[in-house]
Amino acid sequence: MAMHELDRYSRQILLPEIGAAGQERLLSSSVAIIGCGALGTVIASGLVRAGVGRVRIIDRDYIELDNLQRQILFDEEDIAKGLPKAIAAVEKLKKVNSQVELEPIVADVNPGNVERMISDVDLVMDGTDNFETRFLVNDACVKHDVPWVYGAVIATYGMTVAIIPHHTPCFRCFLAEMPVPGSTPTCDTVGVLSPAVNIIASLEVTEGLKILMRKDEGLCGQLLYVDAWAGTMKRMELGKGNDACPVCDLGQFEFLEAREGSYLTSLCGREAVQINVRGEARLSLPGLAGRLDSVGQVTFNDYMLRFRVDSYELTVFPDGRTIVKGTTDKAVARTLYARYIGL
Ligand SMILES: [Zn+2]
Repeated sequence: MAMHELDRYSRQILLPEIGAAGQERLLSSSVAIIGCGALGTVIASGLVRAGVGRVRIIDRDYIELDNLQRQILFDEEDIAKGLPKAIAAVEKLKKVNSQVELEPIVADVNPGNVERMISDVDLVMDGTDNFETRFLVNDACVKHDVPWVYGAVIATYGMTVAIIPHHTPCFRCFLAEMPVPGSTPTCDTVGVLSPAVNIIASLEVTEGLKILMRKDEGLCGQLLYVDAWAGTMKRMELGKGNDACPVCDLGQFEFLEAREGSYLTSLCGREAVQINVRGEARLSLPGLAGRLDSVGQVTFNDYMLRFRVDSYELTVFPDGRTIVKGTTDKAVARTLYARYIGL
């Protein structure tokens, strides 16, 4: 790369921790960010500004007003345009750094597609909001030997740890079993402090940059726990437990081998149910809009169709996946889907 093209990175090249050699490594690296909400937008911004060569942003959702309190890449105009998060994030980041190759993917990460999304990158960053996806990502990353950085925030506190398959304990090692749904607090039930998100996402990016630059000796190697409100930070050693880990010791990828994941999922953070379809349908959104026009209020763009009927709102993506808002009752969502979309 010509010298003047490196000018934008001069302030981090000055750091002995990065330098010209580190910058070259970043420029030739690739990262997949799973989930582009609170954590994911900060992570994407950090990696793109730092000059990571190729960044894939995967998110299943669209933007809502209560996201803007903490999801730093989005604005009111994105909501008015009805943009999915992955698309809006990439549009914004293109203006920040046109040298980075950006790839938006509007999809739900599931056992059928996760390996395709992570096997060709150097690093995976966790911007998800649920345990099921994290266990799935852990299976895929250990199987394909791709490092990943876990991060989670709730209320005023959060934690992060870098997972290097077969070198550090994996996610399954220290969280032996998936928490029972409803047993852990979520951002919907207790809220979340925006600065806490920024801190954890920034620590995730810091660990991620070290991994990409192969500065293994600088890796924290421990779980970092931060409470932004209390102003405290702790490092915790993570053990592997006494028993063999099904994933990194025995090579059993239970989440990856699960059939298609759950067909219906209640979405974290709001009154909505997601309906997945098997396989990958290609739906004509204009065609569907024509059929629904006489039944309710329909709007659509290249990325999604929104249909309002009674007190419900259905958002349909071209692969057939649908988010039904206005209910957490899976039976109600299934009925609405069968009645109006009926794939
Ligand atoms: Zn393990």
